[in-house]
Amino acid sequence: MRAIVYRGPGDVGLEERPRPKVQSPTDALVRVTTTAVCGSDLHIYHGRIPNLAPGGVMGHEFVGVVEDLGDQVPGLAVGQRVVGAFSTSCGTCWYCRRALPTQCVQGKLFGFGELDGTQAEYVRVPLAATTLQPLPDALRDDEAMFVGDIFATGFYCAEQGGVRPGDTVAVLGCGPVGLFTQMSARLFGAAQVVAIDLVESRLAMAQKLGAVAVHAGQDDPVAHVRALTEGRGADVVCEAVGHESALRTAFRLVRPGGTISVVGVYVEQDVPFPLGRMFMRDITFRIGICPVRNYMERLIPLIASKRVDLAQIVTHSMPLDAGVEAYALFDAKRDNAVKILLRP
Ligand SMILES: [Zn+2]
Ligand SMILES: [Zn+2]
Repeated sequence: MRAIVYRGPGDVGLEERPRPKVQSPTDALVRVTTTAVCGSDLHIYHGRIPNLAPGGVMGHEFVGVVEDLGDQVPGLAVGQRVVGAFSTSCGTCWYCRRALPTQCVQGKLFGFGELDGTQAEYVRVPLAATTLQPLPDALRDDEAMFVGDIFATGFYCAEQGGVRPGDTVAVLGCGPVGLFTQMSARLFGAAQVVAIDLVESRLAMAQKLGAVAVHAGQDDPVAHVRALTEGRGADVVCEAVGHESALRTAFRLVRPGGTISVVGVYVEQDVPFPLGRMFMRDITFRIGICPVRNYMERLIPLIASKRVDLAQIVTHSMPLDAGVEAYALFDAKRDNAVKILLRP
């Protein structure tokens, strides 16, 4: 089969690989129909994941069809369409029982060296009964795929922020997760959503989706948000960038008594934390990798009922064979790329 493989920093390649097989009774083999390049794949692409050995298949977002099953995968059948979570989880360990599937003792991430990823024709899915979610036929791949990663993450970011009706929500970042966070803030009843980024085309998309767009290089986001909130600052600040400069801005954007919710990816970074300022201003700070498994079943009806239109952020749909070009395009944000799907 064909697969996009990590070769080293700045280098991915299309390679021929043996088709994976079911190895354990709890495995499924999935024929991938749609996968994508995610912002967190760029951390690998740039060599920012310590000790990641070359040779692994990339990718962790996927929709596909069950091709083969072990004999301990209740609830799934060969031929069924499924969406996958970006990491596996067992559903029964101490963490899974406490709704923390991303901390599962048996959990592994797809495409980060632990498990071969999904930018391939086929992927082996361990712990398939809890890692895969069956899909209704009515839902297209480009609507359904996002519940396994970026829509769940955006929704989680707004939920962790405790967004309430009438709130002003500032969202740092207008990449795919940032845009889905903005949509989710609206679902929770935000009165105004302020979208902050440095890329014109992404700000234009945020504006089209109903946000007030602020270009952080041309305008002062803090002054802008204060002007919209009688000088207070944002009730909730969502950080969907994963960079120290965004976090610093988040500390300045939040109003006294407000909440900062961080889903931007930080890998082995330590960032100074203004403890005194946060203490005196009664700030709630939340951060974490989305327990995506908790959201898949819950978010599918939201998409099926058309309360959100997730496919709006898809700017490119390319064959898997063009995966190397997709990485270059997405990394450089060329051709106004926001979300690139790959079709094996
Ligand atoms: Zn991702
Ligand atoms: Zn578990």
